[in-house]
Amino acid sequence: MTKVSFIPHLPGGIVTPELLRKIAAVAEKYQGRLRIAGNSVIIAGLTLADSDQVAAELGVPGESHIASSVRAVTFCPGKPDCARGLAESSRLGLELDEEFWRQEVPAKLRIGVSGCPNCCAEVFVKDIGLYATAKGYRLLVGGNSGHKAQIGRMIAENLAHEKVAPAIRLVLDFYRNNGENRERLGQTINRVGWEVFLQETVPKLNAL
Ligand code: SF4
Repeated sequence: MTKVSFIPHLPGGIVTPELLRKIAAVAEKYQGRLRIAGNSVIIAGLTLADSDQVAAELGVPGESHIASSVRAVTFCPGKPDCARGLAESSRLGLELDEEFWRQEVPAKLRIGVSGCPNCCAEVFVKDIGLYATAKGYRLLVGGNSGHKAQIGRMIAENLAHEKVAPAIRLVLDFYRNNGENRERLGQTINRVGWEVFLQETVPKLNAL
């Protein structure tokens, strides 16, 4: 019999002890295996029917997604939980996840937020990456860690917390207008041309 997994959407991997106990309980009830990976706890080895039951009993949406969409936002602890944190990267990451997760775009799109230049959230290999400095966030675009790996390039710096979501909306506007089916953001910019991309987005970013 085909086995499937259920992956609860836990933004930033932040979870209460109560929910963790609930995940363990449903995994035991339906003979699932638990695997901690990325920002979630995968409940593997379920039948399709049991997977639906698990989702209903947990009351948490699953990570399941359409292929061409914004994936769960990755973010590091940042201020105040990390001594090196220069900004509240978790607060920003949760806000971005709330707005952008599951939005449709031409291909898979990953967003990452780091609270300092150490970049623990690997933001240089995210389609859209952010890391904090003492003066605000730096915005990187075009990275990815797939088989056509690419490093993101900085297109804005010193962004205040509240300017980040509007800046991402501008980048996504460009992507939706120019991206071809299954083409990652960096590939779209490579094809259209970085100069064209910068001419179209930077003046709008500066006007935010
Ligand atoms: S990127 Fe900086 S703030 Fe975030 S976890 Fe790493 S060291 Fe801490």
